[in-house]
Amino acid sequence: MTTGWWQHDGNRSACVQPGAHRSARCGTGGRRGPHTARAYTGPNVIIVRFGGGVRRSETIVGKKSYAPYMLNVLARRGTLIPNMTIAQLDGVDTSHAEGTLNILTGRYRGYSKVGSQGLAPLLEPGAPTLFEYVRKAFDIPVHQALLVNGEDRPQEEYLTYGGHAHYGVSYRSEVIGLFRYKLHKFRRILEENTASEAELTEAAKQLKELKAQDYRGTAGDSSPVMERFWDTWRAQYGDTGLKNPRGDRLLTELAVKAIRELKPRLMMINYQDPDYVHWGNASHYTRAIGIIDQGLQRLVDTVDLDPAYRGRTVFVVVPDCGRDANGLMSVPFQHHFNTRSSHEIFGLFFGPGIAQGKVLDKPVDQTSVATTIGAIMGFKASGAEGRALSEILT
Ligand SMILES: [Zn+2]
Repeated sequence: MTTGWWQHDGNRSACVQPGAHRSARCGTGGRRGPHTARAYTGPNVIIVRFGGGVRRSETIVGKKSYAPYMLNVLARRGTLIPNMTIAQLDGVDTSHAEGTLNILTGRYRGYSKVGSQGLAPLLEPGAPTLFEYVRKAFDIPVHQALLVNGEDRPQEEYLTYGGHAHYGVSYRSEVIGLFRYKLHKFRRILEENTASEAELTEAAKQLKELKAQDYRGTAGDSSPVMERFWDTWRAQYGDTGLKNPRGDRLLTELAVKAIRELKPRLMMINYQDPDYVHWGNASHYTRAIGIIDQGLQRLVDTVDLDPAYRGRTVFVVVPDCGRDANGLMSVPFQHHFNTRSSHEIFGLFFGPGIAQGKVLDKPVDQTSVATTIGAIMGFKASGAEGRALSEILT
């Protein structure tokens, strides 16, 4: 059997590597020591969550697609999986945090509800996430395992690690998004102590409110690398929040800045704006798909121009969930009614080691994404249910 770079044994965490002594902290979720992981030499992986909730008909169906760059340019660079689905199982909701966790853990229902913020559930994964697997297997600092989040979904800030005893918070991802930026900004304003009394009082109030939303307590300990990242963002866009791009365009800007300055090895970008269709206007949905398509182009152009990423980066594009296709509903395009099309999504993989110009036209589960990323990066997502898609690997 020939062995490719994706096939080396990433299953052995350092705790069981020959020659590595067993640390008392191995497997406890405690802070790992420097002996515990190998340097990572595999490809960078960028997961683009084509959220929040898109149907195949507006994305991968030729004449109707609002994502022409993805469909006509990117699909030729890799393998398109038009028949990816979210399984019809009891208790599987086709929604945003749920689908994101299917992707990140490779399991359906691999989470528990720990509360809610407004109407949105707060979910905690019970199985390890991809960030935890890769950071346990390899020596990758937290700022190189990144989750790029939308500004109005603080409940998704915390999809960064699961409750699994052998993984957990020591292997979590870093998060970038406006929530984190605002925390940084108000801390800085208070440290600088040069604003007016009223502004300082307001900054203290805002900071307290933001901290109250941080129910997992991971937003408090920012590293010098992240402080620098946010300082330069603040220098560029200022304190008003009026100059920086908004919505999914903001996520693209943050991801491009991260590629240039943080050099992530695994990054997930949680696009979300197609979900504004909940309020009933179909053009919000189709326009948002086009903005994600433009974001993809910007990300791919950035990668293709960067020597650290060019030819060394695998993209994985996958929606969190589909949407209903019943035109008779009073508010069309919902995704909570367990209809067939809300389970129908797609996948696109491209980059080194991925078959080019291929269509894998058979049913594939959304939970296969995690296992396949494990095969690409060289670790075993041992808690995942889905299979590794060996057909798409060259
Ligand atoms: Zn929604």
